[in-house]
Amino acid sequence: MLVSLAGCANGAASGDGAGKGDGGLVGVAMPTKSSERWIKDGDSIKKQLEDQGFKVDLQYAEDDIPTQVSQIENMITKGAEVLIIASIDGTTLTSVLQEAKDGDIPVIAYDRLIRDSKNVDYYATFDNFKVGQQQAWSLLNGLGLTDLEGKPVDGAPAGPFNVELFAGSPDDNNATFFFNGAMDVLQPLIDAGTLVVKSKQTDFNTVATLRWDGEVAQKRMENILTSTYSDGSKVQGILAPYDGLSRGIISALTDAGYSTGDQWPVITGQDAELDSVKAINSGEQYATIFKDTRELAKVAVEMTVAVLGGDKPTVNDTKTYDNGKKVVPSMLLDPTIVVKDNIKKALVDSDYWTQAEIDG
Ligand code: BGC
Repeated sequence: MLVSLAGCANGAASGDGAGKGDGGLVGVAMPTKSSERWIKDGDSIKKQLEDQGFKVDLQYAEDDIPTQVSQIENMITKGAEVLIIASIDGTTLTSVLQEAKDGDIPVIAYDRLIRDSKNVDYYATFDNFKVGQQQAWSLLNGLGLTDLEGKPVDGAPAGPFNVELFAGSPDDNNATFFFNGAMDVLQPLIDAGTLVVKSKQTDFNTVATLRWDGEVAQKRMENILTSTYSDGSKVQGILAPYDGLSRGIISALTDAGYSTGDQWPVITGQDAELDSVKAINSGEQYATIFKDTRELAKVAVEMTVAVLGGDKPTVNDTKTYDNGKKVVPSMLLDPTIVVKDNIKKALVDSDYWTQAEIDG
């Protein structure tokens, strides 16, 4: 590989960055097609790798852990030179990654940290703690308490506000980061009595949502509405860490007789999925967190090119992501809060969605 790269560097393709793949195979393992973002991630990684001259084996595992393990095994058997993996359960890949190590195949954890293995070379992701803070700031902003950076606004209402909390899948390392980031912002306001979690469900394991499943979130919201709000009180804010959960929560609220308008709660999200962007436009969802999958794909592709060329990929964090066996050198991108006012600037002007798709 090094020899062919050297040849490439002297060839006609040098200078524009093209052709670095030299026909080598890269295995790309994605968790599921059931959420739009991973389709965008997979498509972007594939296209950008192919533009570099790589061949790509892109697989989705439909959130089934054994399927993902065997897909990665197949990639190794087919001769993949690098593996880019967005894990389903971050703790279940230890033995297949040992196979990768035995075959000298570098591993890049994509978006989600792979845990319990020293055979993870690099990690491409967003600042996940900040994502959680942004979810909390957008919740507070929707309640009229702060701006979108969490700064208290003059003349803010005193509250108290009834809020409920949701977290992501407990086997996804990101879910803890999102929740901790959010609670870093919300806990002081809960302690001060400005926010009241009326269900009293505040610990991560109680509020977590296995496999990020919207139906699970819908059921939990239904149960909370029945157990806690049948006295006529209203929930006014909901911390939801992913658009798919937000949509389940919205269904539960609608079924329980809530309608959009003054008494509709502030609901957060993540991923800028199309249906949720529409829901932000129509006022059903207050905010989402946009993480540009094209940019994340670019980082993973740059890491691939670097490791194959014997170079060190660019990273900006070497402290935060301890996977239980090592601190994985990471490149963290910056997430963006999207509310109704900046849909056009954040999502349309950047060609993530067209205005027609959002209006359609
Ligand atoms: C990702 C989020 C996504 C969630 C559910 C997380 O690991 O970071 O962007 O919303 O998985 O797919």
